[in-house]
Amino acid sequence: MRVLLHEFERESLAAPPAHFIPLSPTGGEGWGEGADLAAGFGAAPDLSPRRGEREFLGRTVMRILVIGSGGREHALVWAIAASPLVDRLYCAPGNAGIAEEAECVAVAAGDTKGIIEFCRRAAIDFVVVGPEAPLVGGLVNALEAEGIAAFGPSAAAAALEGSKAFMKDLCAREGIPTAAYRRFRDAAAAKAYIAEQGAPIVVKADGLTAGKGVTVAADLAEANAAVDAALGAGRFGAAGAEILIEECLEGEEASFFALVDGSAALPLAAAQDHKRVGDGDTGPNTGGMGAYSPAPMVTPAIEGAVMDRIILPTVRAMQRDGRPFKGVLYAGLMLTEDGPKLLEYNVRFGDPEAQALIMRLKSDLLPALIAARDGILGQVDLRWYDEAALCVVMAAKGYPDDPQRGSEIGGLDRAATDPEVKIFHAGTRRDGERLIADGGRVLGVTARGADLAAARERAYRAVDLVDWPGGFCRRDIGRRGDR
Ligand code: ATP
Repeated sequence: MRVLLHEFERESLAAPPAHFIPLSPTGGEGWGEGADLAAGFGAAPDLSPRRGEREFLGRTVMRILVIGSGGREHALVWAIAASPLVDRLYCAPGNAGIAEEAECVAVAAGDTKGIIEFCRRAAIDFVVVGPEAPLVGGLVNALEAEGIAAFGPSAAAAALEGSKAFMKDLCAREGIPTAAYRRFRDAAAAKAYIAEQGAPIVVKADGLTAGKGVTVAADLAEANAAVDAALGAGRFGAAGAEILIEECLEGEEASFFALVDGSAALPLAAAQDHKRVGDGDTGPNTGGMGAYSPAPMVTPAIEGAVMDRIILPTVRAMQRDGRPFKGVLYAGLMLTEDGPKLLEYNVRFGDPEAQALIMRLKSDLLPALIAARDGILGQVDLRWYDEAALCVVMAAKGYPDDPQRGSEIGGLDRAATDPEVKIFHAGTRRDGERLIADGGRVLGVTARGADLAAARERAYRAVDLVDWPGGFCRRDIGRRGDR
């Protein structure tokens, strides 16, 4: 039986994990009381058990912890906060916006020991890990070993993002369409291969480099310089001790997301993002200056091809190889003349794609995440708004090279009065009543509309109401989708 998630009951999932302690009703004010924490957020969440309540109106409810502090995590927290399955919702470490919907905990995403300790103290039932670094580092393994259920891949499965060489070798073995490549540890051999192949050509560090390890080289000199930076100067440390040289693919890029439970995959929506900092896709690469969903380029036929030729073969291979993948599988695609090809895998939601995706989700996200972890995704169906959603990232001036922290942001209440607009925080903190920019990417102004143009108009109307002289944004998010 397929369970529609808005009708979903926790009881219809597999048996609750061993540590799940059913308690009885009362309490009721729910999560969020921690928003008035003394230091803005992260100071002292209220862990007091609420007189044994873990059921509310006959429904089992859970204590959830989200890991991370960016716009993606704010979107996850916002979606999870709406679930009737939630008793209390925490985020470690969170940010000033997240603190309005969850209790923020002053524990860093990389502090595995601190996270486990908090989970024990707060009797957390389920952990949702946002960013890739803790996943690649084995946070989910550590949590599960302690009997704490967690959403996200194990370290062995997160290698799909943590090692591009691992991902490319898997594609080669399984016949998954991707750019031709070779692996190198020796600079002279890499340069000889580049000379043989010619430019344009792509040079990539094997490991995690926060998006900085890829050079799409227009000529041989640029490619050789990238080889020297990684293998000679050690620019990326151990992450660049091995490099890949790849064929340069041409086409339109798109992001495709699927929930995976180890053996089954449920496609989510597709999205497109804007990586360059300036209008018209100019200037340096960033973490992402905006995103929209659906991606008009990803037709149902392309979606079918991506599932059949890329996602499902990957899921099967990972299961067969004894490293079953559970979590969000995010395929970075190049839509070429020969069909969709895989550029890269990420093992978590995209940021800012998650903000746009989650604005389009009608169903309860939490039971779908639990089902992915429990290996019963086949019981899950997700419903989406037909409307489009679009996220405009507002960044601190100087981003990405040298973002200026500390400027004050005003006007958010006014900007967010439209019920179809949600402003997700990515890098903010509170200083008393003042909201302060505290990162490169700071806000994700996200809107839903009948189509992409309507969503864009609404999002920019809200952007223009934000009073933040210290910030900037691109003015052309979603324009590519018009074509
Ligand atoms: P991120 O996770 O920030 O997207 P990353 O460091 O994991 O980046 P990739 O996604 O593999 O790296 O590559 C970054 C960008 O480089 C891609 O979005 C794409 O624009 C370009 N790129 C990567 N590989 C190729 C290729 N083979 N041909 C053409 N362009 C490529």
